[in-house]
Amino acid sequence: MKQITETLYFIPGQDDMIPDSHVYLIGRPESKDLTLVDAGLMGKGKYKIQSIQKTGIQLTDIKRVIMTHTHLDHIGCLGEILREIPDADLWVHTAEALLLEQGDERAVYGMDMFQSMCQAQYRIQPGAFTFPVDRRLEGGETLELGGTAWEVLHIPGHSAGSIGLYNRQEKILIPGDTVYADYAIGRFDLYGASGAQLRDSLMQLANLEVDILLPGHNRIMQSVPPGYILETAKQWEPYLS
Ligand SMILES: [Zn+2]
Ligand SMILES: [Zn+2]
Repeated sequence: MKQITETLYFIPGQDDMIPDSHVYLIGRPESKDLTLVDAGLMGKGKYKIQSIQKTGIQLTDIKRVIMTHTHLDHIGCLGEILREIPDADLWVHTAEALLLEQGDERAVYGMDMFQSMCQAQYRIQPGAFTFPVDRRLEGGETLELGGTAWEVLHIPGHSAGSIGLYNRQEKILIPGDTVYADYAIGRFDLYGASGAQLRDSLMQLANLEVDILLPGHNRIMQSVPPGYILETAKQWEPYLS
């Protein structure tokens, strides 16, 4: 686990046959009101939990998990993590909350072929990704998380309920799988995805001042050049309709 700012830690994903999403821990440690953003792939819960414990942070200080979206590589080890922090809330965008509560796993797996492959490979039972959601996020609200303020941005396209978290004061963006380093963007061929929506969401993000970009996978960017997201959006625009 790496400290990015005074109020933000980074646990890099440990990619397996399938990618494992990064996890971010936000909030002032002394607030004892910490938030995990995303969980990761099946079997990676122990690694994520141990990474947190190594810094001396108490697991009981983690009050909630916010999902940028509910794809398998982000939610796969949510159950493992929640077993260690059973009192933590789960916050998810409203467009994916009901699916999650009803055990409708189309948004988790994204496509049927992937579902059967993963269920066989990881011995996952159907309905394994059924969770009660404690708070439905809409987009537009500002969350007070352990002494820091984060705006929720609804940025559909990669999935219907994708959100970004934006810290305006520190110019930090956590965009989930919507935009990455190296001019890459999230795929838009899975259940609930839309190229046109992804284009609009990228344009929404392009309006933000971003110094630190903390995506769900691959490199993080700690000094984002001005106009980076706009340039990325423009490069992809011909493919997004
Ligand atoms: Zn995803
Ligand atoms: Zn992902």
